[in-house]
Amino acid sequence: MRRQRQRDTSPELLTRRLIHSLGHRFRIHNRDLPGSPDLANRARRWAVFVHGCYWHQHPGCPRATVPKRNREFWTQKFQDNRQRDLRKEQQLRDLGFSVLTVWECETEDLDALRGRLERELPS
Ligand SMILES: [Zn+2]
Repeated sequence: MRRQRQRDTSPELLTRRLIHSLGHRFRIHNRDLPGSPDLANRARRWAVFVHGCYWHQHPGCPRATVPKRNREFWTQKFQDNRQRDLRKEQQLRDLGFSVLTVWECETEDLDALRGRLERELPS
């Protein structure tokens, strides 16, 4: 019997496939850029972060919950995460990059996400 291989449906891979299918080329895990964007194209000056809604506290998202225990600690920690994200995005913009954040929950509606990326990714 042939083993069925589990297809990776992580938000990052879904986003990569989608952007690739739109004809864009990019590198992944760009450690030499501020915030190490998940995808980036230096020549065209764009960078994409794929963020988990929980850890990066997607504003208004039902997944962006705060644990009831140690609430103060987590609130502070999430705030620090968010501040750091915004700082890195600004550093990239200062370098002339367009910066897009793709939220985990957006990868559940790939048609809508495709439309957004088509509009917002510089070609
Ligand atoms: Zn979300």
